[in-house]
Amino acid sequence: SKENGKNGYSFFNADLSQEKVRKMTIEIELKKAIQKNQLQLHYQPKVDLRDNTIIGMEALLRWQHPELGWVSPVEFIPVAEETGQIVSIGEWVLREACRQNKQWQEKGYPPLTVSVNVSVLQFKHNKFVESVQKILAETALDTQYLELEITESIMQNIKESRKILNSLRELGIKISIDDFGTGYSSLHVLQQLPIDTLKIDKSFVDSLDSDTMNPMVKTIIDLGLNLNLTIVAEGIEYENQLHLLLEHGCTIGQGYLFSKPVAPGDFEELMNLTDMLP
Ligand code: C2E
Ligand code: CA
Ligand code: CA
Ligand code: CA
Repeated sequence: SKENGKNGYSFFNADLSQEKVRKMTIEIELKKAIQKNQLQLHYQPKVDLRDNTIIGMEALLRWQHPELGWVSPVEFIPVAEETGQIVSIGEWVLREACRQNKQWQEKGYPPLTVSVNVSVLQFKHNKFVESVQKILAETALDTQYLELEITESIMQNIKESRKILNSLRELGIKISIDDFGTGYSSLHVLQQLPIDTLKIDKSFVDSLDSDTMNPMVKTIIDLGLNLNLTIVAEGIEYENQLHLLLEHGCTIGQGYLFSKPVAPGDFEELMNLTDMLP
């Protein structure tokens, strides 16, 4: 009840389940995570499926807490979205990804595009474009080496989203629609959006478990190609999936078959390889 504290929670309340305690703990601890240097980015290579070379990387957020251990983004990102903390966390992610990418280029690695996940809440924040611009200036990363991964949920407000996307594209940044096919985007809307890439969700790639193409996957690839978009498949784990995707026109992919997301030091070793298949 409300009398029991400003959160309205009582520790004597029987309905304060283990799950709620965990969520509250995450919320409280997450507030200190940036300041305490507990956040890191790992990088997963994006691979040209025709020759198995690295053509980019996706930055994926990692949180290591002294008592909670590694907390999965699947668990803490939704909490951060609910509390609004995703705005400052997202800004940290963007800055760190751009800084790291610029540093790799300065070290002499061939320039690659880094893809950064952006949550809808962050995307719709009125200072988002401004903050992206500021971070690019600060880190001196050439804008062509940044791609933002956004989900289909931005289409809930198509007019507003298109304005934001246009501003980002004017800066020279690329836009990818992540987890494509799991949301509710209509073809009509898709055609109206200034985007560069469609990312086929892992669940579709998972369905390619033999040597037959899933017609849904084929449709997504054809749709993307017809709209002149780059098609990326995520979650490739088996060679047969790679071959099916390639055979049907999808030329870029990522997944455990090539590499899991790895710490920056290990990613440097991947960049030294000439073939991403073990
Ligand atoms: P996502 O953007 O769809 O990222 C792909 C997820 O699939 C990552 O999980 C990646 O590690 C995993 N993955 C990649 N290839 C394979 C594979 O072959 N097999 C399997 N089983 N998994 C694979 P991760 O890193 O746990 O991230 C989960 C989700 O958390 C992401 O899904 C994304 O929605 C969110 N996330 C991660 N980092 C950030 C971030 O910096 N900002 C925001 N807003 N969300 C993030
Ligand atoms: Ca993603
Ligand atoms: Ca995805
Ligand atoms: Ca996914």
